[in-house]
Amino acid sequence: MTADPWHCEACGARYDMASCTLEVGLVRLALEGPDGFRLGSTGIEAEVARLLEPCACGGRLAPGGNEQLGSDAVFSADALRPLARRGWEVLTGCDEPGLVRLREVWRARALRLLGRDEELSNDDVLELRLEQRLAGLRAEIDRARAAGDEDAAQMAHARYIELGTSYARRFAAR
Ligand SMILES: [Zn+2]
Repeated sequence: MTADPWHCEACGARYDMASCTLEVGLVRLALEGPDGFRLGSTGIEAEVARLLEPCACGGRLAPGGNEQLGSDAVFSADALRPLARRGWEVLTGCDEPGLVRLREVWRARALRLLGRDEELSNDDVLELRLEQRLAGLRAEIDRARAAGDEDAAQMAHARYIELGTSYARRFAAR
């Protein structure tokens, strides 16, 4: 998958959608239904742009930019929720194997996104916690790289691989 690059219209800061595949996917399902589904924001940029929090500088995010990874784009929870709810309904009604698999992968994060935490199993909660730690390490790697601290970046990367491996082992078996 490509980085799905975005940028700030005002200051040019780079953003990407790598960490919000779920959110973008639910918006697409809500807008277009399940037929011809694909990941990423291509073709639904205008709708996605309307739902994003502004850049730290106050500028609006717009699609496009170079392929280098940027900061994580952030959805406005309130703006997103109605579409996310609709998208999850669409996904829940799908029996196409690729989408069924996607539903399993997304289930825990989607329920949390929709505020349905009471439906999460203990496994779901553990999965979310691990994902959060992985995201935290990814941010640490980026910060260290940006600060030119290659040693700290390597260290965080090693922990990321270690945690990622145990995560994969734990959840691949389900
Ligand atoms: Zn900006």
